[in-house]
Amino acid sequence: MAYGRQKIFILLRMCVALAIALIITYFPLHYLEFFTYDLRFRLNPFTKVSSDIKTIAVDQTTLQKFSGEPTLTAHIALLEKLLKQDPLLVYYIIDPKTLKGSKTDQLLFTETLKKFRNHILYMKELPNKGEEYKVIVGDNFPDLKYSPGYLSTDFQHFAEDSVARRALLYDQSYVYSQVKAANLINHLSDLSNYRGAFDFKTSKQIYVNYQRPGTYEPSSFEAVYDEKTLDNQFKDKIVLIGKDTKFDYQDYVKTVYDRHNFSMSNLETQANIIATLLLNNGVIRTPQAVNTAMTILFAIVVVFSVFKLTPSRAILLILSTVGAYIVISSLLFTFSGIAIGMAQPLIAVFVCYYFFIPYRLIRENKKFWELTEKNKLLTQVEELKNNFLSMMSHDLKTPLARIQGMADIALANSENFEPEQKTAIQTIRKSAEELTEFISSILDLSRVESQKIKLNLQSRDINRILEDTIKKYEYLAQQKNIEIIPELDTLFSVKIDADLMKQVFSNLIENAIKYSPTNSKILVTSEEDEGQIIVQVADQGIGITENEIRHIFTKFYRTKHVKNSPIKGSGLGLYLAKYFVELHKGQITVESLPQQGSTFTVNLPMDQSGQHQSGNVGDGSLGGRL
Ligand code: ADP
Repeated sequence: MAYGRQKIFILLRMCVALAIALIITYFPLHYLEFFTYDLRFRLNPFTKVSSDIKTIAVDQTTLQKFSGEPTLTAHIALLEKLLKQDPLLVYYIIDPKTLKGSKTDQLLFTETLKKFRNHILYMKELPNKGEEYKVIVGDNFPDLKYSPGYLSTDFQHFAEDSVARRALLYDQSYVYSQVKAANLINHLSDLSNYRGAFDFKTSKQIYVNYQRPGTYEPSSFEAVYDEKTLDNQFKDKIVLIGKDTKFDYQDYVKTVYDRHNFSMSNLETQANIIATLLLNNGVIRTPQAVNTAMTILFAIVVVFSVFKLTPSRAILLILSTVGAYIVISSLLFTFSGIAIGMAQPLIAVFVCYYFFIPYRLIRENKKFWELTEKNKLLTQVEELKNNFLSMMSHDLKTPLARIQGMADIALANSENFEPEQKTAIQTIRKSAEELTEFISSILDLSRVESQKIKLNLQSRDINRILEDTIKKYEYLAQQKNIEIIPELDTLFSVKIDADLMKQVFSNLIENAIKYSPTNSKILVTSEEDEGQIIVQVADQGIGITENEIRHIFTKFYRTKHVKNSPIKGSGLGLYLAKYFVELHKGQITVESLPQQGSTFTVNLPMDQSGQHQSGNVGDGSLGGRL
């Protein structure tokens, strides 16, 4: 039943995780997604450059040399110099209409440009339908046409942060100028064959594999003009001519590498786009289905961690999953140009974590509260039990003493009794004695458990206590014809609680008698060794099996063999003995072999400030001496 309920709860949590994941995937989270997208560019240590592309820029040195923008005449002169090297394509990003010059210069410029194997006059925007005439440069530039080539930034779409990430290949029946340039080399006629090409509204686009700003370092207009540049470096190349004056931010775009207004010149941006097309290495963004699957997976990992693991392990698993995902996606991007969705899976981690953690806390709090209540109840029950036990034991002790007393009187005047009557009174006397002993043990136990026992330390000779105890049990031993042999070395007096130690030795000697056959021997020894007093009680009795030996100091424990025998006992004697010895910071241990005998050893430190120790297996060196 409880198991079924648990299953339903697990299923419910999974459903909530799934719902959270699906809600998250409903939001594209473009800004965050492209933040991680840009990060992967920045982390990529490799550069891929197309050697087919060269750039020439009107830069600040050029402006100094020409005391301003170079005129049409200067541009014509530059083209003349380039012509000598016969480039594959001249790709003009500067609008000739904006250049100063006469009508004759405009005609000459047109003529010179047309002399190249291929030329493209880049136009920033795409003419609307019906305004196709706008591609004509002007009357003074006969038959010279612009080639539309919109430079796309994420201004209105996607991350909306004005960063250049995409390039348009085709829109409204116009194939863009960059594609035309690249086609001269790659001859890729089907635009869908470009890696990562995707449709967006009426256009086909790709994600440009941008390289770090400065990768396509331009030659200065002025240097080419003066023929200072290397020989024939423009031969058979696509040569882009543009501006890099750092004056007008319209000539620049923000990049994935940094978002300064002058991050990358339009000239270098065009070079990057054409290079991506030439190398056909556009970035592939994984489809939404993959992102959704990852988001669901992350949500499930979080739910599993939060509910099945300890808090520290959960955090560790979540962090390592997130870390592994970041590493894998960075490697995937660096080595195969695939950008897997990151924002949605990572947001799923945070949302699920913060959604489920309070739930877990509430659950744990409830459990803790239940445990505390249970504990309180248990303590109350324990107290009640102890009170009841001691009350009952006290109340039983008086009538028992009376029974014992009466039995003694009866026995003292038993000359006229029949033998059966005498035996009956003796049995009453013995049973009352056993009961008294049992009640004493129970009383001791409740004192131990309520921790009411305090040591009453006095300087005493342990040998005296041993001799008294042996004397006390002599009669019992004689009944089984057991000989108790004391071998007691002379000892210094030590500080002990005589009553408690008497109880310990009594228990050991009584057990030795109880669990030994008739006509056997018991050896009781005492000696001093390395600041310790060692007392041993060795018998030739029934012994204890290896499996049971570790239990005999547990309360109420009696070995199987003994439980099935008529030998009486409560199973409390050794438990109490161990407790009392340990109160003296000593140790009680046993070594035993079934049917051969047992040796109990008590070690008491002479200095009672020694370390508290406990254990239950010793060397029992006296065992062999009997
Ligand atoms: P009990 O009142 O049963 O003697 P103890 O706590 O004194 O309880 O002893 C626990 C159990 O350990 C005994 O029931 C017995 O099985 C075993 N035991 C104790 N002393 C000996 C011994 N000298 N020889 C064999 N078994 C023993």
